Amino acid sequence: MTLIISVSGLRGIVGEGLTPQVACDYGCAFGTYLEGKRVVLARDTRPSGPTVSGAVKAGLAACGCDVLDLGVVSTPGAALMIRRLDANGGVVVTASHNPSEWNGIKLLSGQGWAFPPEIANEIRGIFESKSFRLVGALYMGRASDQGGTHEQHVEAVLSHVDADRMCRSGFKVVLDSINGAGGEGGARLLQALGCELIHVNAEPNGRFAHTPEPTAENLKGLCEIVREHGAQIGFAQDPDADRLAMVDENGVYIGEEYTLALAARQVLASRPGPVAANLSTSRMIDEVARSAGNQTVYRTPVGEAHVARAVLENGCVIGGEGNGGVIDPRVVPVRDSFVAMGLVLDLMAATGKSLSQLVAEIPRFTMIKEKFPCSQEKIAAVLEAVRGELADQRLNESDGIRIDWPEGWVHVRGSNTEPIMRIIGEATDQAEAEELIRRVRGIAERVLGS
Ligand code: MG
Repeated sequence: MTLIISVSGLRGIVGEGLTPQVACDYGCAFGTYLEGKRVVLARDTRPSGPTVSGAVKAGLAACGCDVLDLGVVSTPGAALMIRRLDANGGVVVTASHNPSEWNGIKLLSGQGWAFPPEIANEIRGIFESKSFRLVGALYMGRASDQGGTHEQHVEAVLSHVDADRMCRSGFKVVLDSINGAGGEGGARLLQALGCELIHVNAEPNGRFAHTPEPTAENLKGLCEIVREHGAQIGFAQDPDADRLAMVDENGVYIGEEYTLALAARQVLASRPGPVAANLSTSRMIDEVARSAGNQTVYRTPVGEAHVARAVLENGCVIGGEGNGGVIDPRVVPVRDSFVAMGLVLDLMAATGKSLSQLVAEIPRFTMIKEKFPCSQEKIAAVLEAVRGELADQRLNESDGIRIDWPEGWVHVRGSNTEPIMRIIGEATDQAEAEELIRRVRGIAERVLGS
């Protein structure tokens, strides 16, 4: 029975780990934590969405929360509406890039961002102990439907880009919305930017046309469509539309790491300031920040809440993650594929350059991601050995250990949900990246006796 509980909420296979009872309990737990206030509720397009969402709604109302149901909208759209509707929190029923058999429940704070671990753990404690504060019949929360999210989200993005300039460019764009929650708003945005839109997988029916994670192997079809139509760019959203991957005008998948790098370049061109990114995000962001007048890059532990917090605490002009997640605090404090599309097209219009030219202007790195089995008990021992053997290097220990050498970096950390350690390395070429990873993996292997 698969049910994964993490700081961002829970996920499971519908009908196995994730049942209506579990969803209702989770709604009760969040309603108990909020002590019966206003909550925004949203869902992606999965066929199980109405059932799971309905169960969450019942749990919230049973604990006295009024529920504003946005229906099918993106995660960033939901985050925006929390603030617009003066709600105290939000729930998004989505399993993000997991296949359609899965669903999940993601919680957002009254500020519209993911909860920090201490609060997420408090809510988890209420869920697991079932210590719910149910209210009597007269105090039960009321549920109402709330429209207008897509319009308001698109307006928010438009107010921070030069729409007229993009309209004059008249870009031909392919958007793959994977039949997820980003299709309707995505189309509205690109049309408002004067794009000639070829919209594929635009039906909000939750039948994912390909494996949802926006990686190279899953987007071969998009690459072909971009070539066939002679489009200038191809965009791919994930099912809840917080992440964005891109394909260039030659039909080449350019990788999710470039989404943040290019969006940051556009923001920093007019509003220089600090940037935040997690420890596993490419050095490209450092290069972009350096070219824009040596701006500071704050590195955070992995997890959207950490990046969002760093953005807000340090007054960053932009932040994000290498998985195609761009956070523009002027719009919402979560990853937002709408913001990312607006900023990248704005950059193309401002510079008059093609996507492949813009990509070529950023120094190229090679990133390698590996994982190896490691029990939760052994993680500390591995990290201790890495720390001991590499003590004379530049180390960041805020989440596992990241070691920075002049030629590249390696980040090694234990998973919170599986008995594995992840090891990510990046350098100017493949051989160098492999060599750096080998050095750190060698230390782990000695500790684990493998
Ligand atoms: Mg997502």
